[in-house]
Amino acid sequence: MKLYSTNNKSNIVELKQAVLKSLADDKGLYMPIEIAKAPQAFLDNLEHFTFPEIAFQVSKALFGDYISNFDLWKICERAINFPAPVVPVYDQISTLELFHGPSLAFKDFGARYMAQLMSHFSKGDDSKLTILVATSGDTGGAVAAGFYNTPGIEVVILYPSGRVSDLQEKQLTTLGGNITACEIQGSFDDCQALVKTAFLDSELKTKYNLSSANSINIARLIPQSFYYFEAFKQLNRDQTNVFCIPSGNFGNLTAGLLAQRMGLPIDHFIAATNLNKVVPDYLQSGDYQPKPSVATISNAMDVGAPSNFTRMQHLFDLSHQDMAKHISGYAYDDASTMVEMKTIHSDKGYVADPHGAVGFLAAKQYIAEVNKNAHVTVLETAHPSKFLGTVEEAISTKVDIPKRLADLQDKTKEAHQLGNDFDGFKAWLMERS
Ligand SMILES: *Cc1c(COP(=O)(O)O)cnc(C)c1O
Repeated sequence: MKLYSTNNKSNIVELKQAVLKSLADDKGLYMPIEIAKAPQAFLDNLEHFTFPEIAFQVSKALFGDYISNFDLWKICERAINFPAPVVPVYDQISTLELFHGPSLAFKDFGARYMAQLMSHFSKGDDSKLTILVATSGDTGGAVAAGFYNTPGIEVVILYPSGRVSDLQEKQLTTLGGNITACEIQGSFDDCQALVKTAFLDSELKTKYNLSSANSINIARLIPQSFYYFEAFKQLNRDQTNVFCIPSGNFGNLTAGLLAQRMGLPIDHFIAATNLNKVVPDYLQSGDYQPKPSVATISNAMDVGAPSNFTRMQHLFDLSHQDMAKHISGYAYDDASTMVEMKTIHSDKGYVADPHGAVGFLAAKQYIAEVNKNAHVTVLETAHPSKFLGTVEEAISTKVDIPKRLADLQDKTKEAHQLGNDFDGFKAWLMERS
């Protein structure tokens, strides 16, 4: 599988380089030059494949010439080891629950698969790989769990002190082993700046084989396409199947486009956002205007300049018209999102998280205004207990906390206390063995 940089189509790398580097030297995102079709016999018989087998078939179609079947199966079996059930909620609306992994959000799929691929590609290298990652909350938990105990890789996670929830902090700071947490006296932007500066520091680069686990890595995008196939396995194929994706950086939606290009018969996409709505605005007007983000209750979607937008444009050969034909965009404020959580709960007894609720709003509007016969599958991106206060306020009912999250409360936090200055961070990194 060869990939090009979205900043320069003649900057071409192999999959291994794209995975280990994340971002091209010219700051472009890696995109496959060709997107292979999945075998027709596989597409026609999805119900005969388990979820890890689906992951294997899709991976094999995309880059099977590059990794042996044996190794690829190992990667899929280890990474895709929890379910993604389709749950009917309304007659025409189902959810695809993506929160059954260790950190209770869909980011587990990407993080686990990326960990396995990186471990595979760095095998045989002399020095172990050190992954530096800054997190504002959710990504860190998924990355920590995804890379935990992965041979040949250690992970250093930087998070802003006092600005992640208690449970998020526990997800980062209680694993130990190859996962190290640094509590930074500063903001998320400070954490990100420390990581960026570290990548440019020649002494650190001599001591460590540094890599990043950020969300634009192609190894996080590919596995997010698997669950569209897994959803189709569970859906009625005779209906008009539309997928609605609550979106921030648009990785999830881009992965859906990838699945469609591989031959999965997805009829249409809905991009659902909170008031950070540069993509819905673009779909309407053809004018792309990134903006500073505004804070909302669906905070994992508070993104004003979505990093995967460029990839979406490339998938449609930069044609606004073509993109708007395939994707409808809708945006909602916090007040409507709160009401929608209550409505879904009182209509159907289903508890949606704030991100999922934004998706339900868009699904309903699309069915009412555009296609009365569509069946919409809303991606439920996080478990409602991750947003406990907000959800309980909306539905006036207690939310059950899954055991693996509740168990964290009793674990002891271990984090290195560091300031937001680069010299202190570097000194700490240089002293580690
Ligand atoms: C990351 C995240 C999103 C946004 O996903 P993108 O792929 O960045 O669009 C939505 N919901 C939750 C709960 C998330 O953690």
